[in-house]
Amino acid sequence: MTDKEYAKQRNRIKKIADTLIKPLGFSWFTITLEYKRRFDYNDTDIMAKCHAQPDYMMATIEFFVPSIVELSDEELKHVILHELCHLLVAPIFHNPSKQTFEQSTELVTRALETATMEKK
Ligand SMILES: [Zn+2]
Repeated sequence: MTDKEYAKQRNRIKKIADTLIKPLGFSWFTITLEYKRRFDYNDTDIMAKCHAQPDYMMATIEFFVPSIVELSDEELKHVILHELCHLLVAPIFHNPSKQTFEQSTELVTRALETATMEKK
């Protein structure tokens, strides 16, 4: 992958992520986007990976740029939404309990609430 193509894909990921993060109410999380030219995971089908720290309302989402190249904007949007949803359900994964189930449900509720909020 050329530097030019890599830069182009980075911009495309960032642009689509920006149309989702704030409008869906993720702006009260600290989300870092990372763009990898090489991925250290065994599964070569992975296009992105979310490392969530729900206790700190933080996450890093890594994108494997050489795989992203193959995706349409709609498919890339789906990948980004999938990774953002990992952040919402991360409390259950990190510590399955009635409380974290409730916490994740509330996070999903707020995201949907924000997404369906009437625009003024
Ligand atoms: Zn996933």
